[in-house]
Amino acid sequence: MAEALQPKGIPVAYITTSLFELFKVGPGPSSSHTIGPMKAGCHFMNAARNLDTQILAQAENIEVRLFGSLSATGMGHGTRRAVISGLLGHQPETCHPDVLDELDLNPDQEYPLDLGSKTISFKGSEVIFDEIQHDFPYSNTMIFSLQNKDETLFEQEYYSIGGGFIRWKGWVEPERGEPEFQYSSMAELKKHLVMSGLRLHELILRNEKAITGLSENEIVEKLDNIIMVMERSVEKGIQTEGMLPGPIGLHRKAKKLYDKAKKAHFQGPGFLKGLNAYAMGASEENASGHCIVTAPTAGAAGVIPGLIFVLKRHMGALTEEVREGLIASAAIGFLAKNNASISGAEVGCQGEVGVASSMGAAMMAYARGYRFQITENAAEIALEHHLGLTCDPVGGYVQIPCIERNAMGAVKAYNAYLIASSVDAAYHMVDLDKVIKAMADTGRDMSQKYKETSQGGLALSLIEC
Ligand code: SF4
Repeated sequence: MAEALQPKGIPVAYITTSLFELFKVGPGPSSSHTIGPMKAGCHFMNAARNLDTQILAQAENIEVRLFGSLSATGMGHGTRRAVISGLLGHQPETCHPDVLDELDLNPDQEYPLDLGSKTISFKGSEVIFDEIQHDFPYSNTMIFSLQNKDETLFEQEYYSIGGGFIRWKGWVEPERGEPEFQYSSMAELKKHLVMSGLRLHELILRNEKAITGLSENEIVEKLDNIIMVMERSVEKGIQTEGMLPGPIGLHRKAKKLYDKAKKAHFQGPGFLKGLNAYAMGASEENASGHCIVTAPTAGAAGVIPGLIFVLKRHMGALTEEVREGLIASAAIGFLAKNNASISGAEVGCQGEVGVASSMGAAMMAYARGYRFQITENAAEIALEHHLGLTCDPVGGYVQIPCIERNAMGAVKAYNAYLIASSVDAAYHMVDLDKVIKAMADTGRDMSQKYKETSQGGLALSLIEC
């Protein structure tokens, strides 16, 4: 999930997000409910260890209160175990899923937390699922407190703002390099492309180097690792059968679809079955809490990997073409994050699977050699037809409607690419900036019931039936 919506009338800042803040490796099933809280837990422990030794000497316990959709659906999304793993020092990129599975077995289990000069014990039940409605500046708020029995010794308010990003009260934007090309909209980005004569992926790479200080080789290496993790999530998903974790009792479907697609040699409906299988395979891995790449979020982690599999396996795309397509897709994710949100808790699923589909359509067009205008049009078409999409995960689990929704997002992305690349670009009437604005406005007007709280929509009707 992602950054809060910009209040009306306040100009948006230019984009300084890195590729590797958008594409992050970590455990599913929801970046704002797992990766964000894990990072917050880790950050809090580091801050606590730096407290005065006299304060630490009095510390007896830590309490964590979860608000907003973290409270509403955190149980199903594995937020408690994510918080505990963060407190224990685990990082999303390196934490093994087995560690997380074990943390969830017994909420009363005690864990030793290392405060440097002393160790205190922490129980899973000290993660409190608090108010869903609140006045904090971000929906997904967490309050971590270091306490003794009489008072709170140290407290920090964290926000999981989507896509695994966190902030905290008093957070100051970290110093980073200035992007070489400053833009906050597609219109401004387009001007830079025209003036510089650069291709889209070249411009984004130049900005990435300026923002992060990484060399081009380092960026390429990291991107290839991202693509490899995405492919692995699909491969594992299409080979695995059985039931997904949680009380819903949902069976995995990706392998069956894949077997049918293979039998049909991926011809006719077999091609679409294949694409569905790939997207659902990665999404089922996400639902299992296994390693995925946020693209742009964990809930939407199946769309882009599914399309990458199609590009490489069925369209003969080279690694370099896929990499360039992925970089182009990031430009769409940056714009959506900067000018609206990529958070289901902020704007509903239009910001997650909708943006993933839009990024995926751009990636398809760009990797197939289409230039900027077709790429933008493909992204626009895919996002336009996700506007208004709510987030209503049944039982708070990223399973229904999320897994099939990833497949639908991938199919829509493929279709958007087909439409954009088949018709005259000059006749295209809606630009991407307008559809991103429409997504932000729609998200602002959307009832809280449909923003990852499981208090409306399918989350209710399925249970009532
Ligand atoms: S419905 Fe969409 S936004 Fe909500 S949890 Fe599922 S994938 Fe994420």
